[in-house]
Amino acid sequence: MAETSAIEWTDATWNIVTGCSLVSPACTHCYAMRLAGTRLKHHPSRAGLTREVNGKPVWTGEVRINWDWLEQPLQWTRARKIFVAAHGDLFHEKLAASEIATIFAVMIAAHHLHDHILQVLTKRARRMRELLSDPSFWEQVNAEAEAHVMERTDPLERRRDDARATLGEYGADNPPPGIWIGVTAERQPEWDERTEHLRRTPASFRFVSIEPTLGVISMRLVETLILAGESGPMHIAPLPTWLDLVIAGGESGPGARPTPIALFRSLRDQCAAAGVAFDFKQWGEWIDADEFSRMVAPERIAAGPLTFAGATKLGVDCLAPCEHHSDGSTSLRVGKRRAGRLLDGREHNGAREAA
Ligand code: SF4
Repeated sequence: MAETSAIEWTDATWNIVTGCSLVSPACTHCYAMRLAGTRLKHHPSRAGLTREVNGKPVWTGEVRINWDWLEQPLQWTRARKIFVAAHGDLFHEKLAASEIATIFAVMIAAHHLHDHILQVLTKRARRMRELLSDPSFWEQVNAEAEAHVMERTDPLERRRDDARATLGEYGADNPPPGIWIGVTAERQPEWDERTEHLRRTPASFRFVSIEPTLGVISMRLVETLILAGESGPMHIAPLPTWLDLVIAGGESGPGARPTPIALFRSLRDQCAAAGVAFDFKQWGEWIDADEFSRMVAPERIAAGPLTFAGATKLGVDCLAPCEHHSDGSTSLRVGKRRAGRLLDGREHNGAREAA
């Protein structure tokens, strides 16, 4: 676990769960798997979670709860955004419902006591929806959260500061504040399947992370209400969207796949049309050639789209790390640090700005 994080949309990671199994095309270059099999291979939280296949670490399928770290968010007193189980999946099928409830109870208490924002992101959207809709799950969560809060509030102070000592009765009809519930989706099929569960999951804040962005996604964010008018014609009224935030980004690390800029623009524009906050996290290893030329040599903009020769002049070796897309755009592999996070010349900071 870490009190700080390099992930742009959070402040800290709480690695209460480590170990996982691949469920989606986006898992192919799983960062957590690589880390568990290399740098953290001998760390007690990761040892034995991967084995080597063709020289690369692959999950064994074991999932571990790091119980020693259970109360970490309760010990951090300065309010921050905390990414829960950043190196695993909180709703993995190998975890018991009661274990997930115990983790949830800490999340609720951590928000209540210290104003932390807890961010949960899963690819197991169906299980998340089922659990967060189950009254017996909430019964356990409420009881354990209450115990954490009582243990940490002085009995004398409790009388003076009743609000701090008194927790709400949370459940499907009253989801707890301060907990972001999200799914990841990389292409249309994953978007359709997972966001349908997310939409029906009780939550006070819902978000989707599209990283890496691997295909065109039509978000279908705004539902429409169709009313029959008395004189015949139908009246169509947009309903407020159920989604609070979309985070998008490209892939980083070895074997990273490039994303055409048009896909990011489309996500940004759909969010703007639906009134959903948008965060462009990063380009990743690859960046659009024109975006890169705008960054490193703004005067080139007038000269039109970047060519191989132009890219070479900018110091980019275009022999291997160039990929041409069917829409006519080109991606350059310049590395995550150089690629940065400007989209059409500006930052999009929806996650940082979200309450
Ligand atoms: S679900 Fe997440 S942690 Fe699990 S394998 Fe896929 S990318 Fe890695």
